[in-house]
Amino acid sequence: MQRFYCEKKAGDGIFSRRCVVELSLVMKMKLIDIKTGQTVRIIEVGGEGALRQHFLDMGVIPGAQVTLVKLAPMGDPMELRIHGYELTLRLADAAKITVEQISEENKTEIKKAKRKAASHPGLGEDGKYHPKGSGNPLPEDEVLTFALVGNQNSGKTTLFNQLTGSNQHVGNFPGVTVDRKDGVIRGNSNTLITDLPGIYSMSPYSSEELVSRDFVLNEKPKAIINIVDVTNIDRNLYLTMQLLEMNVPMVVALNMMDEMSGNGGAVDINRMEEMLGVPVVPISAAKNEGVDELVSHAKHIAKYQERPVYHDFCENNAEGGAVHRCIHAVIHLIEDHAARADLPVRFAASKIIEGDQLILDQLKLDQNEQEMLEHIVLQMEKERGLDRSAAMAEMRFRYIYKVTDNCVTRPEKSRESIRSEKIDAFLTGKYTAIPLFIVIMGAVFYLTFGLIGPFLQDLMAAGIDSLKTVTEAAMQSAGVNQILRDLVVKGLFEGVGSVLSFLPIIVTMFLFLSLLEDSGYIARVAFVMDKLLRRIGLSGRSIVPMLIGFGCTVPAVMSTRTLPSARDRKMTILLTPFMSCTAKLPIYGFFVNAFFPGQGWWIITSLYLFSIVVGILMALVFKNTLFKGEAVPFVMELPNYRMPSLRNVMQLMWEKSKDFLQRAFSVILIATIVVWFLQSFDFRLNYLSDPHGSILATVAGLFAPLMAPLGMNDWRIVTSLVSGFMAKESVVATMELLFAPQGVAASLSAVTAASMLVFSLLYTPCVAAIASIKRELGVKWAVLVVLWQCAIAWICAFAVKLIGG
Ligand code: GDP
Ligand code: MG
Repeated sequence: MQRFYCEKKAGDGIFSRRCVVELSLVMKMKLIDIKTGQTVRIIEVGGEGALRQHFLDMGVIPGAQVTLVKLAPMGDPMELRIHGYELTLRLADAAKITVEQISEENKTEIKKAKRKAASHPGLGEDGKYHPKGSGNPLPEDEVLTFALVGNQNSGKTTLFNQLTGSNQHVGNFPGVTVDRKDGVIRGNSNTLITDLPGIYSMSPYSSEELVSRDFVLNEKPKAIINIVDVTNIDRNLYLTMQLLEMNVPMVVALNMMDEMSGNGGAVDINRMEEMLGVPVVPISAAKNEGVDELVSHAKHIAKYQERPVYHDFCENNAEGGAVHRCIHAVIHLIEDHAARADLPVRFAASKIIEGDQLILDQLKLDQNEQEMLEHIVLQMEKERGLDRSAAMAEMRFRYIYKVTDNCVTRPEKSRESIRSEKIDAFLTGKYTAIPLFIVIMGAVFYLTFGLIGPFLQDLMAAGIDSLKTVTEAAMQSAGVNQILRDLVVKGLFEGVGSVLSFLPIIVTMFLFLSLLEDSGYIARVAFVMDKLLRRIGLSGRSIVPMLIGFGCTVPAVMSTRTLPSARDRKMTILLTPFMSCTAKLPIYGFFVNAFFPGQGWWIITSLYLFSIVVGILMALVFKNTLFKGEAVPFVMELPNYRMPSLRNVMQLMWEKSKDFLQRAFSVILIATIVVWFLQSFDFRLNYLSDPHGSILATVAGLFAPLMAPLGMNDWRIVTSLVSGFMAKESVVATMELLFAPQGVAASLSAVTAASMLVFSLLYTPCVAAIASIKRELGVKWAVLVVLWQCAIAWICAFAVKLIGG
């Protein structure tokens, strides 16, 4: 077969058309059929809707070259290299992508250095010169608000921490639980920077993308700081192109310059500024280089409201110019509507061409205009030979290649990616991946629960204990009254104190999780485990929230926001409560110490395994009832392994500790005081020395029969479990309080203790977790979770009781 095709070649900024006669056999096939190491060119991307758009946004577009790096250990998904970065794709999705073989000489491997490495003129130059009285600066007292936008793993968190130091506020975006961090830029009191979620595009297909888009459109930050990972520049600029269309003052922060120049790469910053029409500042967030320049640029463009110089990146002669003419026709068509809807017109036009219903609704076009729009787009599709989404993606990448060809001297294969390949030979290797995963997770759990955690915990407990003794003595000598003394000693020190001593374990757990996450390992885990998780109806990405669930359900539920499909998100949220959180550990420790001393290791491990098994069974039930249908495609970036930044890790640990302490001194403190009150007084408010006749005993006694089949017909146990609904940590605190002075070992049998362990393992998550589930899924689901977790717990605990006799 003989084939003709035209190829564009870039040569120092001037494009020339060169026709190549290719005599070799050109074979069409599916991406699924290529061999490891083979490089092919994409011809067509099948599939539809949001998922297909996601492929396109990740750079899987007609014309792009892909190489199959390897298959996951279980044979699915595949790891591909495209645009110089690694991407995962399931075989089923690869079957929808048509590719053609390319002959060796036509492989345009990423181009080697063509230019000499340019030195960067003063790490970015100062902004435009505005003589006094010219320009339109914002009033002096106006707060300069910035949005920090970038891909995942581009270094956003690192930069945000550098910019704000400790002046930050962590919360949620209104209405949705996507992390929101606001902070004042250090030394610039009238600034406010908001860290938006990591996204790849401005399509409204995931809640993150929608949040970021709405933030820029509705909250109108004075400027955008777009962080771009320069080692992965093609794909990162895809987002930049869409941000430029929003016509908001913007500065591009080229991050990871240290890695880039360390490997002999360089960027012609001035040329890039020229081609993008916005200031570009090379930085290294991790090394705090160039960050001051970035701040001064950002302030400058925000103050003078310097918008991007142009946003017209469609070329009028590219591939017959169909896309260009389409975009401009649509812009003219909707100009007035966009102005009325207060939308940047170029952005609105691109989005409605791509078929974005939300923007289309906002524009309020009338029937005729909508039809006209449809005709324009159809004509473009016909002329261009690509569908609307692919055509738009291709147009953006075309310009990106022009920019990178002109401005970027690509490094030789970077040390970081060579290192990543070496590490991946083991961590995602066919025979080594799963054993290593088990070893790594085992090590994390052993270090957390067997070594570091308990050591710090003992220290902390000893500290609290001596403080208690001192306080008690002081109060005694000061003649403080008995009730108050009891409140402080029993309520405060024994209640909150015992909870507090678990802080070290929780912090250690988060330390390891964040190390795994930051280093890039968690993404590999998702890659390796995808096939397994798909069996239970989930995708590899769900492994991340589930693992976090072992730390705490609240952030786990929050982290499901990164899952691209609502179905997966819902199912993952419903399953995370089965992952035993660290707050339940005190309960296990308490019972093990009291009933099974020295056997903690295997008992706690079995508990964990048991809850995972129950979780899997539930998943299978969900898969075949509530959530029929396939899980979403698994398109995920595999970033290079990186040394986690100490600063980020410390920051995270500090946030977690603060969060925990706040809970300890609010919910848990109140719960303990309430419980202390209820069990110290009877209905006539007489202070009791023996809690038997107390309010609590009477009320909880009413519920105790429910627990009788489990051998827990005891108001003290019921009370403890109820307080566990407030916070799991207070189960132990309450037990200590109620079973004093004989202790729990004297009051319960070993079988009861075992069924109590299983019950606490599975019953309702705490209020905070339920609250976050409610935020994600609504009241109905939250209530259902409480009910079915309790039912499952009851059944399993009953089984334990039966078996134990
Ligand atoms: P985010 O996902 O965008 O928030 O990215 P992070 O801030 O978590 O950074 C991702 C990884 O890149 C972390 O391991 C950082 O330590 C690393 N990183 C961030 N900035 C730089 C940089 O300037 N140079 C290098 N070499 N690594 C960086
Ligand atoms: Mg981050």
